[in-house]
Amino acid sequence: MSKRDFYEILGVSREASQDEIKSAYRKLAFKYHPDRNQDDPDAESKFKEAAEAYEILGNDEKRQAYDRFGHDGVNGNGYGGFSSNEDIFGAFSDIFGEVFGFSAGGRGGVNRPRPGADLRYNLTISFREAAKGAEVDITIPVEQECDTCHGTGAAPGTTPQTCSHCGGTGTIQQAQGFFRIQAPCPSCRGAGQIVTDPCDECMGRGSVIKDKDLKVRIPAGVDNNSRLRLRGEGEAGTNGGPPGDLYVVIRVEADKVFERQGQNLIISRDISFVEASLGHRLEVPTLDEPVNLDIPKGTQSGEVFRLRGLGLPHLGSAHKGDLLVEVKVNTPTHLNSKQEALLREFAEIEEGKLTNKAKGFFKKAKDKVMGE
Ligand SMILES: [Zn+2]
Ligand SMILES: [Zn+2]
Repeated sequence: MSKRDFYEILGVSREASQDEIKSAYRKLAFKYHPDRNQDDPDAESKFKEAAEAYEILGNDEKRQAYDRFGHDGVNGNGYGGFSSNEDIFGAFSDIFGEVFGFSAGGRGGVNRPRPGADLRYNLTISFREAAKGAEVDITIPVEQECDTCHGTGAAPGTTPQTCSHCGGTGTIQQAQGFFRIQAPCPSCRGAGQIVTDPCDECMGRGSVIKDKDLKVRIPAGVDNNSRLRLRGEGEAGTNGGPPGDLYVVIRVEADKVFERQGQNLIISRDISFVEASLGHRLEVPTLDEPVNLDIPKGTQSGEVFRLRGLGLPHLGSAHKGDLLVEVKVNTPTHLNSKQEALLREFAEIEEGKLTNKAKGFFKKAKDKVMGE
């Protein structure tokens, strides 16, 4: 079955503003809300379809991808729909899942306090920020109580109606064999009340999504996938439940100079075979000022020198990793005639140091090369 066009689903033009898209989605979400459409088996799929369309069109970046590439642009790599890794706000779908009662646990209880959902925010920082620590400002959309209806979901001046199905208790008695059990009322989903005249601001949900600005302190030494927990900065609880937490998941950009291995930094430096033979003072970049590293005489290609404590800090400790400098010895590809003459002289001397057996082999090989 081919997927319907997202604009068509929301009933907006391709030039629609974000406000128009949002408002169109809210109307549909209210209209097809499963709580209100117990008798319409198609309502839930329509509701989900609208949520999916809004997930894409309500986000500028995803909307652009959709405009350019259609469904392929938002289904495949990069934008995995609800599980997109690039989505700055991975829990967006969770918000709707919770609010509209799609979460695994469902709403169940009768006005019992429920903790707010935990939220996840993916934050990309530079290598230097990870190394040195930083303070980063982020803005997250958070579900908050609607100011207009103070969370009741009913339009100002109206009150929610007592549910006639359960008489406002939020529960019903069901016979099961010999037993009578209590179950949440299917009409009001356990709320005991039904909103007949929904609040315009929140479309009857009782809550709205608002931007919240936060400062995130990045400790020095964080690595990819470090999770920072901001206690109580998640979604608000309901009926007096505690707020959830916000998890900031860190992604660290690669660096042009350093490679990272745990808390150690690795860098590779080229030296000439002459520098390797005679010893050399090498200037090495660090996270701060460059330092000098004395390469001893007779250094082999691939040797690694360890500069202690010049790596990345361990989280929550004064201890630091090391900077590892790998030396690569270059063989010259172009020699001028004087350099070549000197090297031939050098070779003669080397030859004189060899044993008779090796000397014969060396001479033969050399004669062959010279004779060509
Ligand atoms: Zn409201
Ligand atoms: Zn009821």
